[in-house]
Amino acid sequence: GGTLRFEDVHFHYDADRPILKGISFEVPAGETVAIVGPSGAGKSTISRLLFRFYDVTGGRVTIDGQDLRSVTQHSLRQATGMVPQDTVLFNDTIAYNIRYGRPTASDEEVREAARMAQIADFIETLPEGFDTEVGERGLKLSGGEKQRVAIARTILKAPPILILDEATSALDTHTEREIQTALDQVSRNRTTVVIAHRLSTVVNAETILVLEKGEIVERGRHQELLAAG
Ligand code: ADP
Ligand code: ADP
Repeated sequence: GGTLRFEDVHFHYDADRPILKGISFEVPAGETVAIVGPSGAGKSTISRLLFRFYDVTGGRVTIDGQDLRSVTQHSLRQATGMVPQDTVLFNDTIAYNIRYGRPTASDEEVREAARMAQIADFIETLPEGFDTEVGERGLKLSGGEKQRVAIARTILKAPPILILDEATSALDTHTEREIQTALDQVSRNRTTVVIAHRLSTVVNAETILVLEKGEIVERGRHQELLAAG
């Protein structure tokens, strides 16, 4: 499963200031949607609704036809994976960080997830700053590498839906491509991917929604929108 629908979704943090003004879209299971648009458009707000940090104030969000409001927090956590802008790592090996939350995963499964996320080379090392005992084993991870650790964690979890919030991040193009490659592997697991992003040029999504001031002002398949410039 993993078909995601927003049906005429309205949302406000403060009653006198609408933030989302009737958002409707559908993402078939296993496809990727990118929500792009200027800062303040409401991209992160959409990710927060998916996690039920907040509930919609109008309309509804469904996963496989089920209203999010009737899904328990527990099953929502099972069903969704999140790759935040700034992944916080534990004071242990990258392998440990990948396995976190899936204690029963085998070493082989962890290695495979790391390979798919393209971080297989350093899963036995520790993030820099933690490894006081054996200093030189510590490795300084870039923002993109940390995100790929989070992506590897997600590959292991294989949730129906993955949310990647890059609404305000400023990663370089090379890093973006590496993350995109890792995400393509996630999609192969039939995971539905929701990307909140500032730019449309770097994301490889079946559907792109352009959000401005809480409304979808343009939508299309990837190639059409790029061709239209
Ligand atoms: P984007 O991710 O596209 O940059 P956001 O979803 O973060 O946009 O924000 C959309 C609008 O909602 C902005 O005007 C922002 O200031 C406002 N906003 C975001 N979070 C809150 C909040 N917790 N309380 C009140 N307003 C908020
Ligand atoms: P992100 O920028 O990563 O989405 P935030 O949720 O902190 O993270 O902020 C999103 C936007 O919403 C920012 O522009 C921020 O200034 C605004 N914002 C966050 N919280 C509030 C709030 N309580 N009231 C008004 N605006 C807010």
